[in-house]
Amino acid sequence: MSYEAPLKEMQFALTELADINSLTQHPGFEDATPDMVEAILKEAGKLASSVIEPLNKIGDEQGSRLVDGKVVNPDGFLEAYQQFVENGWPGLHQPTEFDGQGLPFLLQSAASEMWNSANMAFALCPMLTAGAIESINAHGSDEIKNTYLPKMVSGEWTGTMNLTEPQAGSDLSAVRTQATKEGEHYLIKGSKIFITWGDHEMTDNIIHLVLARLPDAPEGVKGISLFIVPKYLVNEDGSIGERNDAKAVSLEHKLGIHASPTCVMSFGDEGGAVGYLVGEENKGLACMFTMMNHARLEVGMEGVGLSERAYQHALAYAKDRTQGYSPGSEGRVSIIHHADVRRMLLQMKSLTEAGRGLAYVASAAHDHAFHAADENVRNSQRQRMDLLTPIVKAWCTECAQEVTTLGVQVHGGMGFIEETGAAQFMRDARIITIYEGTTGIQAGDLIGRKVLRDKGAAISELIAELNEFEATLKAQSGDEFAIMSTQFSAALKSLTESTQWVLEKGMETPHTAGAASVNFLMQMGTTLGGWLMAKSALAAQREIDAGSTDEFFKTKILTARFYAEHIMPRSQAYATTVQSGAGAIMDLSIENF
Ligand SMILES: Cc1cc2nc3c(=O)[nH]c(=O)nc-3n(C[C@H](O)[C@H](O)[C@H](O)COP(=O)(O)OP(=O)(O)OC[C@H]3O[C@@H](n4cnc5c(N)ncnc54)[C@H](O)[C@@H]3O)c2cc1C
Repeated sequence: MSYEAPLKEMQFALTELADINSLTQHPGFEDATPDMVEAILKEAGKLASSVIEPLNKIGDEQGSRLVDGKVVNPDGFLEAYQQFVENGWPGLHQPTEFDGQGLPFLLQSAASEMWNSANMAFALCPMLTAGAIESINAHGSDEIKNTYLPKMVSGEWTGTMNLTEPQAGSDLSAVRTQATKEGEHYLIKGSKIFITWGDHEMTDNIIHLVLARLPDAPEGVKGISLFIVPKYLVNEDGSIGERNDAKAVSLEHKLGIHASPTCVMSFGDEGGAVGYLVGEENKGLACMFTMMNHARLEVGMEGVGLSERAYQHALAYAKDRTQGYSPGSEGRVSIIHHADVRRMLLQMKSLTEAGRGLAYVASAAHDHAFHAADENVRNSQRQRMDLLTPIVKAWCTECAQEVTTLGVQVHGGMGFIEETGAAQFMRDARIITIYEGTTGIQAGDLIGRKVLRDKGAAISELIAELNEFEATLKAQSGDEFAIMSTQFSAALKSLTESTQWVLEKGMETPHTAGAASVNFLMQMGTTLGGWLMAKSALAAQREIDAGSTDEFFKTKILTARFYAEHIMPRSQAYATTVQSGAGAIMDLSIENF
């Protein structure tokens, strides 16, 4: 896969939509200049295309296996991970006090988009480590931070997230793993399922973040604590000590991401795994949410990365495959001449660009929220990041289902045949709407915690910004912009009405908000995507007006027009569904389903 085309797209979105240059004003980000950003992304792209991507198919075919109690990864993964570490990639946006490079999370998001495009199963391992670092850094004691973070930031040790148990999936209040205090540490006993990269031989140690319950803990989520449980205990001098009582007992057989070991973890089979408390007792879920929110933005990027890859793959096939005749062309044509194939490709391209824009805007909000000098800016950007996080997670990953499925469709019958590779993108993508909180859970978070709880404050601010943008878009001359403006205004009106409806009627019956939630989230994603596509088009028009003849800018405007005509109208359909309430969903008795 070539990274040149996406690199140009990425740089455009970073500059014009996420305003990456504004980050250099924050203390610590002074070095993130446009030249530095370009140089880093080029290197990330080279690593993606020359090292990580060639392992994608091998990883799918071989998968990770459990052999004599050890997880064996597919050929080449160990060497690729070593190169990833030697090049310093794990520390890209990590704190300098633990020897990270301290660069913006936004830059990390763009780099991880390329690694996800190349090989999502591989990219998952450093992604989870980064989330674990964020949680430990935010909530761990100095001793814990100094013991674990330098090696995790360097990538010498990886991190995992241990939430799920057979009876506790979306509902973490049901977590049963036990923690008992023993002197300075705790003994952990219990079983976790579905733990991504829960064991492997790529590093000397693995640092598990585990949710568990103390014997006298209150019921439900208020009785959950967070523990670090290292695979190997760490001696006082920082060297690796004894093997801890924590191991992978089996691996799941899955639809996709075969190279990523999804482990059943057993803690305490031989008396208890040694664990160290992170944060306060019984307040572990809040600490784990630091990691989960990080991962939710990153899983959104998985959606964008897979979508970009599926699009490029389908595009190459559509230019190559000859089939049928097309009005105005001589003889048999390549399938990209057919209007319907072009429609599919543009659907893939425009959804990918819209998702990228939204994910980058949310990542920039993350940087402002944590690094801006002004407290008011930090607070308002945190509110924006919190509002956008479930939309990035759920909308970008739902779009990836559509895009990767269309990728198969563009290939015709060959799409269904594994050797073309299109099917792998679709299979790998299937998990991303499920883990890190399903689309339903994200939608519940959006409508409940992010809209109803603050009585619409955060969303109203965003809608006010969209209203200002509406006037700017209307003022732009040209046929393409007239179409974008009409569709944007209609979508914005619908979103304003839906939001009002949710605020007024969302609590009317116990099920109203739940019934509306996913369609409301999809409506928001679609409308925000249209906003960012139109914003891109305006930026492209400025370049053309300044004399640029680069086809890239014309393409931007035409792609935004396609989105306005073919994707934006979905907003109104979602709005109708949102406002129809819970009746049709809840009136049917369970017996009559
Ligand atoms: C490949 C893979 C990797 C994973 N990696 C990890 C990992 O590293 N660490 C980890 O801890 N876990 C991991 N998971 C677990 C994953 O996060 C859960 O599978 C996911 O959160 C859903 O939980 P569940 O499977 O129990 O489904 P359930 O919670 O049983 O959900 C089933 C369905 O019911 C819906 N539902 C449930 N509750 C509600 C509700 N309150 N409102 C509306 N709808 C609801 C869901 O949306 C879903 O459609 C992984 C899973 C897989 C398959």
